[in-house]
Amino acid sequence: MADTAPAAPTEAALRAALAESYLYLSRHGLLELNSGNVSCRFGDGILISPNGASAETIRPGSFVAVAADGSAAGSGRPSSETPMHLAVYARVPEAGAIVHTHSDHCTALACCGLGIPGFHYLVGGFGGDDIPCVPYATFGSAELAELAGAALARRKGCLLGNHGAICHDRDIAAAAARAHRLESIARQYLLARQAGTPLTLTAENWRDYHAMAAKFRYG
Ligand SMILES: [Zn+2]
Repeated sequence: MADTAPAAPTEAALRAALAESYLYLSRHGLLELNSGNVSCRFGDGILISPNGASAETIRPGSFVAVAADGSAAGSGRPSSETPMHLAVYARVPEAGAIVHTHSDHCTALACCGLGIPGFHYLVGGFGGDDIPCVPYATFGSAELAELAGAALARRKGCLLGNHGAICHDRDIAAAAARAHRLESIARQYLLARQAGTPLTLTAENWRDYHAMAAKFRYG
């Protein structure tokens, strides 16, 4: 029998996974009050957390369907950062889901305009030898969407100047784990800066890392 592609998840399954990941991020302190938002691809558009979402009120039915042109297809108001999510999906075909947070350590670095250099090999899991920080732009603006879209076309995560962080991955569970990883790396980088001057991996170290990562499908 010929192999067949796995069936696409149903809308109900996507909504349940989004709600579960929202609560995972909240449990780990990555989403506080109503900061941050999550989304996944859904048909030609996306499902995204509603404006003003919080862990106390989020439900699978809370997520808002939005078409690729930004028009809301269902009831409820989508997150104010919907343009940023749509810009990433438009530029990054492999992005299946996106998580945006104001997690503490990412935000602390972003408020100093600091990206994360290749001080630890797990930085390489984001697709290069650093995790950049894009300049500040107003929340919800086309300018912020453009900056994040351009950065995430080259990396699986970046910091947003004076704002927070954003990550993409194949599905919402992987994107939530990536946002958690980014916060962990940001915390370790801040600690390393307090302990001394973090050393960065060399170009040769990165060549070896990426070769090993490809072998183990790591990242
Ligand atoms: Zn934000």
